[in-house]
Amino acid sequence: MTTVLTSSEFEKHQTGQHPENPHRIHVLREMLDSFPKHERLKFAEVEQAEKQAITAVHPLDHLQNVQNVARAGGGRLDADTVVSPDSYRVATLAAGTVCKAVQLVLTGKDSQALCLIRPPGHHAVPEHAMGFCLFNNVAIAARYAQQECDVSKILIIDWDVHHGNGTQDVFYDDETVTFFSIHRFPFYPGSGDSDETGRGKGLGKTFNEPVTFGTSRKAYLDRFEKTLTKAAEVSKPELILLSAGFDAHRLDPIGSLGLETEDFATLTNMVLDVAQTHSQGRLVSMLEGGYHPEALAASVKVHLQELLGD
Ligand code: ZN
Repeated sequence: MTTVLTSSEFEKHQTGQHPENPHRIHVLREMLDSFPKHERLKFAEVEQAEKQAITAVHPLDHLQNVQNVARAGGGRLDADTVVSPDSYRVATLAAGTVCKAVQLVLTGKDSQALCLIRPPGHHAVPEHAMGFCLFNNVAIAARYAQQECDVSKILIIDWDVHHGNGTQDVFYDDETVTFFSIHRFPFYPGSGDSDETGRGKGLGKTFNEPVTFGTSRKAYLDRFEKTLTKAAEVSKPELILLSAGFDAHRLDPIGSLGLETEDFATLTNMVLDVAQTHSQGRLVSMLEGGYHPEALAASVKVHLQELLGD
């Protein structure tokens, strides 16, 4: 079974004229309402993160900065990262929701969870927000699993069209968390070449699969599967976390790497196979990018259908 965690609260992070906007969550909630066999869906309440869950990844200064900008009525933390009056609370809710999902999965209440949250997280580095992301949700989830749930080895998979630079930064010299990102390259944020493989004890635990514009769907899927298998063998994870961005979709106005909706079903099944082999099926998926509303809703729908085993 798969538990879904989402809320209309995630629509309260206001970004104005911006591709990462509240409508993204709105279309996903509509998709869930009309989901085939809706009665089979299981939902859990979202919840605020404890401050210590966030400070396990970000220095307190960064939290306070986001909080202060929100309290002052909002502003911009970089050229494309917006904070509105509710953004600190909503970002804390996103971080708390992924921790709750980890707890549900690791206590055996469900083997999988899907968090439909915003703001996204994978560009946020420890010291500051970046690229639409305030707090690094997937990194917070990984640290929470290690510190509160007694899990050691974790594999983070990131199929967002952009490189998960923030996540890579957090775990670059960490031998316990293996990070695998497939992304368009060269592209924003500039990092993620294949020779970025980790540092110190973390050397060999970072796997980057850079994909050039125009790569065929088949080549993309082949490369994803090959490197995923390698990363999973190195990691032997007890838990898998997925940064699920859907901006590699052909229709996406930002990413446009050429994937079709059905390709997200294939990717999901590849991840589920690895979860069955290594982590007793334990997988927490969380939303990152995806900026074409209809393509996003359709892609998340097939992702969820595969998680449910349809
Ligand atoms: Zn992205």
